[in-house]
Amino acid sequence: MFFWRERIEPTGDSYGVEWAVTDRWGGSSLDEHAELNLALHVGDRPEAVETNRHRLAHELGLRLPDLRFMDQQHGCDVALTAELAEGQAPSVDALVSGSSDEALVVMVADCAPVLLLDRTDGLVAAVHAGRPGMVSGVVPATVARLRELGARQLEAVVGPSVCARCYEVPAEMRDAAAAVEPVSAGVSWTGTPSVDVAAGVVSQLVREGVTVRWLPGCTREDPNLYSYRRDGRTGRFVGVVRLLPPERAA
Ligand SMILES: [Zn+2]
Repeated sequence: MFFWRERIEPTGDSYGVEWAVTDRWGGSSLDEHAELNLALHVGDRPEAVETNRHRLAHELGLRLPDLRFMDQQHGCDVALTAELAEGQAPSVDALVSGSSDEALVVMVADCAPVLLLDRTDGLVAAVHAGRPGMVSGVVPATVARLRELGARQLEAVVGPSVCARCYEVPAEMRDAAAAVEPVSAGVSWTGTPSVDVAAGVVSQLVREGVTVRWLPGCTREDPNLYSYRRDGRTGRFVGVVRLLPPERAA
């Protein structure tokens, strides 16, 4: 069920966090979506996705409506969950929350899932950063929104995505990405131009003064993860983050 999972308990005045990246196992989806597909928009049976989402919520000690999803657009808009209706999945690529009663979810299958946390001020974010999002700056936009809300000490986890060697693109596309983040210019397994989206994202986070952990793993190479590049029609795994309230509030 989980590719990676960590729980940091709250201490004194500091918030804790539960954050994780799922893998494709331990769910009800079949065939090309097997097993733990968490996306409704990829042609899977909705009942299977609901069951899978229930399982994820249960693992986090939450109810299904407490999982906050996005209708991801490959853009750079950011939404604050407090401004949304219950159950609303806004057309954005980043969600920000200061509530410990919900978990933020980003769905991926090659794009980079980015989870952000401020343990001092009690803020979290989940970001969908593919190549267009990296180029248009969805991560810096999310950091800016978090800072507007008072974040001072941000840390991030960048989950597995398609690696530079596996993400061949036309030369113009690599040049456009490199014009924004030079470190994102890559070379594929066969020596052709490619883009290292996650390297660009990590570079953006570091420039913003965020402490970064970049998890190892390439979606296209790891059969435990969904990869659109590898399989075309397939499911989505997720990055998920939930704030835990400090002891003083318990
Ligand atoms: Zn790879």
